[in-house]
Amino acid sequence: MSKVLSLMNKTFYSNKEIFLGELINNASNALDKIQVEKLIDENILDDGMIIRLVPHKGNKTLSIIDTGIGMSKADLAYSLGVGFYSTYLVAHKVIVTSKHNDHDQYIWESQSSGSFIVTKDTNAQQPSSGTNITLFLKDNQLEYLEETTIKNLVVKNCQHISHPIYLWNTKEHWQLINFCINGIICIYSHVGETMYLWNPTNNEFKVIPPSPFEPLQYGIPLDRKCQGFGYDSVKDDYKVIKHVSLNDAFTMEDFYDPKYATIVEMYSLRRNSWKKLEHDIDLPVCYDDIDKFYFEGMCHWLGYPYELEEAYLVSFDLSNEMMMN
Ligand code: ADP
Repeated sequence: MSKVLSLMNKTFYSNKEIFLGELINNASNALDKIQVEKLIDENILDDGMIIRLVPHKGNKTLSIIDTGIGMSKADLAYSLGVGFYSTYLVAHKVIVTSKHNDHDQYIWESQSSGSFIVTKDTNAQQPSSGTNITLFLKDNQLEYLEETTIKNLVVKNCQHISHPIYLWNTKEHWQLINFCINGIICIYSHVGETMYLWNPTNNEFKVIPPSPFEPLQYGIPLDRKCQGFGYDSVKDDYKVIKHVSLNDAFTMEDFYDPKYATIVEMYSLRRNSWKKLEHDIDLPVCYDDIDKFYFEGMCHWLGYPYELEEAYLVSFDLSNEMMMN
């Protein structure tokens, strides 16, 4: 372990910040794993699928907490690898508390000799699974307790993370710090149709104008659902995709009537305009925020066709505006 640590210190000497991305990535994988387990076992407790970051200036600690699959005693003793050990670039001591569903809660603690011990957490009260990693920062690495440093690192390194990341901020609020792309955040509600793009670094705010398309007969209740928000690197443009379909209250007959066919519309920030997207595939709608994600120029979502049980993965390329399922 001490050889690995000294090699890592040499390799990443000027790039210590990688530790945060590594830990958030592990937390996100752990959430993905519990999500799969929940599909199989309904008894697994749902504690919210989130990642929390808690800097504590008084204690000089930074905690990364997830409600994921957790680790057993054996996992703590044998699985932790290079990603986890990158914490020692910035911390002199690390404590991991983790609970896997089928096991008791355990504490992993590093010793100054470069070894570690794993003990049962006798004070554990938490019934559900998850992991808390607390870093005791070195005195010259206290910048990682600063809100702006943490936010910037999350924006830079965690764009592919689809789980919400909350930061306990100096106002003692949980602040959602991801769901943004290149620092631009897309804000919308399911009820209202108004959407905003917000750049927190210069506080620029842009109201997305409502879409003028009215595909269905006037007066019929419509559902306009945001399916995705992402960045088109070819045209250096931000785009929002919405799915317009009949409101759930409508009958199957209406649903299959071609005059009520669903459409997909796209807003381009650069052109400040809406356009209708041509598509020749079946377009199942996504109902849940957790079922959508953006990754490297593509928006993906899990869609459920009307009255069909199985879901389809729909992928949309923001540059060539092609859709596939
Ligand atoms: P590597 O660099 O080889 O991925 P890591 O140290 O990043 O090594 O992680 C090793 C393993 O430890 C992961 O594959 C996972 O099984 C487990 N692990 C790490 N962090 C967590 C976490 N927050 N929750 C559950 N398991 C985790």
